[in-house]
Amino acid sequence: MSGAFPPLREELRGIEPYGAPQLDVPVQLNVNENPYGPSPEAAADIARAVGEAAVSLNRYPDREFVALRAALATYLNSSGGSAIVPEMVWAANGSNEVMLQLLQAFGGPGRVALSFAPTYSMYPEYARDTLTEWVAGHRAEDFSLDLDAAGDLVLEKQPSVVLLPSPNNPTGTALPPEAVSMLCEAAASYEPGGVVVVDEAYGEFRRAGTPSALELLAVHRNLVVTRTMSKAFALAGARVGYLAADPAICDAIRVVRLPYHLSAVTQATALAALRHAPELLGRVDDLRVERDATVVWLREQGFEVADSDANFVLFGRFADRHAVWRGLVDRGVLIRETGPDGWLRVSIGTAGEMAAFRQALLETVRQTT
Ligand code: PMP
Repeated sequence: MSGAFPPLREELRGIEPYGAPQLDVPVQLNVNENPYGPSPEAAADIARAVGEAAVSLNRYPDREFVALRAALATYLNSSGGSAIVPEMVWAANGSNEVMLQLLQAFGGPGRVALSFAPTYSMYPEYARDTLTEWVAGHRAEDFSLDLDAAGDLVLEKQPSVVLLPSPNNPTGTALPPEAVSMLCEAAASYEPGGVVVVDEAYGEFRRAGTPSALELLAVHRNLVVTRTMSKAFALAGARVGYLAADPAICDAIRVVRLPYHLSAVTQATALAALRHAPELLGRVDDLRVERDATVVWLREQGFEVADSDANFVLFGRFADRHAVWRGLVDRGVLIRETGPDGWLRVSIGTAGEMAAFRQALLETVRQTT
């Protein structure tokens, strides 16, 4: 046999799999998890539901996950949406899988996926894996979108998928509804048109006065709003993401999904967690307060800080951000070296974890500057 082994696609050779370093340090503030685990009551109910599902694991799960779609629709109607019915809901193993399925259905050779940098690093990977051309426009200096330039780029490139995280990762920037509406209209103005995916993975952490794009579903047929149970719901380990959109969009995804992609264990876990929604989401307000306090504190120390509607904060700028990241790790605090050069991202943890972060940062900065 000649040539490289294994016979990997040419463009994938030498590429490192995506993922933050998993280091065993006491304070983990690097992947935007919720620091509060499920309550003992919620954990017991999840365990009971999984136990019941275990008895019939010889059977495939409900392929259409009807009960879960209904429960998610109910939740969305209490979280910024209205008149969302189960046929408008789709779910998969994390919103990463939901968005990959969107690219499988609506992207592909000869088609374009578009977003605005800096943004979530997985988007170009969905495009690469589905052989979709990737186009990245740019955000303004304050990480907001220049609407005229964004609209012009959509009209020029005519993407079949526009990915708009709101709040954006890693900057924390949320989009105003006018921006979403304008881009939905732009993406509906050419043939065959594009879907506009507003990725609200961090939607529940928005500051007061920033509406969810769920409100716009009734107005724009080509709008998709994705959410996840990984962040506000404190259920990252369960891998459940979902979307709300026109039923025709959900039906289109059914063509590309693998049969029985949501296991019986996943469905039981998500349903039990949704029964405990108020409790699981109960810490969101605390995390928002901690986030706002972190922004204020970082600014007081003289750092540049991006406004945040999420459960993380992007701050800088450092001549050698890696040295600062390393200094924090050495003090037992893991944050994320991501975003534009010179910036670092810290996820919001418990009050104790944030105190450890503040102390480690001050010590590190004193030492490295
Ligand atoms: N969208 C954004 C903007 C994210 O930051 C993340 C996770 N880091 C996801 C989607 C995917 O999350 P999950 O697959 O856990 O739902």
